[in-house]
Amino acid sequence: MTTFSDLNLIEPIQTALDAEGYVTPTPIQAQAIPALLQGRDMLGIAQTGTGKTAAFTLPLLQILSTSGRKPMPRSPRALILTPTRELAVQIHESIGNYGKNLKMSRAVVFGGVGQGAQVSSTARGVDFLVATPGRLMDLIEQGHIKLDVLEAFVLDEADRMLDMGFIHAVKRIVAMLPKQRQTLLFSATMPDSVAGLAASLLRDPIRVEVTPAATSAERVQQSVMFVEKEKKRSLLSELLRDQSLVRALVFTRTKHGANRVAEQLAKTGVKADAIHGNKSQGARQKALESFRNGKIRVLVATDIAARGIDIDGISHVINFDLPNEPESYVHRIGRTARAGAEGIAVSFCDAEETGYLRDIEKTIRMPVAVNAAHPFHNEQIATAKHPQKPAARSHNNNGGGNRRPGGRPGQHAAGQGRGPKQGGGQKSFGGNGARRPSGEARA
Ligand code: AMP
Repeated sequence: MTTFSDLNLIEPIQTALDAEGYVTPTPIQAQAIPALLQGRDMLGIAQTGTGKTAAFTLPLLQILSTSGRKPMPRSPRALILTPTRELAVQIHESIGNYGKNLKMSRAVVFGGVGQGAQVSSTARGVDFLVATPGRLMDLIEQGHIKLDVLEAFVLDEADRMLDMGFIHAVKRIVAMLPKQRQTLLFSATMPDSVAGLAASLLRDPIRVEVTPAATSAERVQQSVMFVEKEKKRSLLSELLRDQSLVRALVFTRTKHGANRVAEQLAKTGVKADAIHGNKSQGARQKALESFRNGKIRVLVATDIAARGIDIDGISHVINFDLPNEPESYVHRIGRTARAGAEGIAVSFCDAEETGYLRDIEKTIRMPVAVNAAHPFHNEQIATAKHPQKPAARSHNNNGGGNRRPGGRPGQHAAGQGRGPKQGGGQKSFGGNGARRPSGEARA
């Protein structure tokens, strides 16, 4: 098996990885790093949670820090374009962590906040600029940032970028880049629009594809609870009495719903907060930070706001509402089970949501077990709308890199309170081994 020491990374980067507790590269890192160090372009088909941030950050840190060049005024040497502010902040932080023993400068720009600090942080030029497209275009148009001497360009989450309507801004930005550059494009999925963009941007790229949706879903213990819509909130409170839910990310379909759930939890004494698009950037960052450092136990989020949240040790993902796009389900449950850890995902399903559940099961290519550990579960909804299927899921951990124990706290929290991997009737909340309403045992 490859280890980081096989990858020819310079010592300051190795030391930083040791400090992070990383031992084994994830599959995308093992494949991407050698090719990127040689200056190749890359098409990465991978979602968050696969270790893709380090896969591009480590080689770029090495290339930029050893080339001997310095940033020019107002110019970044490497640009990482990403769709959301949260992702931008996280990538910026990761560059700081992995590059902490190197003298590389970095800045992050995104909308929704004043631009003054962003203008001054980029005025003298930076080695790394992480940006969302709208704000970057604004700053370029005002003459605060230039891209004509860029050395490396990373387009992150290209599919989501297009879904969010950034195609125009992305194309305008791309048109300003110098022809001679290293380009990387990452996308969880490859619709034609992304393939077209990749073809126009990349020169003879290496293609690295990791953990397609179905396999990443296999690492998460998933279960569904059939429940009447009105009873979802009390079911959630009930579940949260179980202290093995140390850090739970709860998804709702609407912003309003997220607020309501967070407020209700707070009333019952559970420390919770909500993040969604209507909250100010400051409030979102504050909620994320409280969740990260354990001040709050539950974070309630909408899909967009939670996109790419990178918090270690999320023990449980709870789908308070099922998403109507199966892809969102895969992204949501991927927030637990990061980089090889295992996680637990529980979905509430009311009578109107059973169609969504069927679509999800088709996409992940396996049935979601009914969580029988709880009295709320509603057999009528389950049997009428969710015909039983033989459950033939194997629980294989084919995940990515490994962290040495003690690398970071909370990484193994998801293991608590989990039942045996097979056999029905246990009271574990994990869902594995739960029975279908008839009592049929999972295979
Ligand atoms: P990403 O897909 O870049 O969002 O990374 C997902 C998570 O995996 C982050 O929390 C990283 O800190 C972590 N991670 C990345 N690479 C490794 C590795 N080789 N070993 C252990 N953890 C890693």
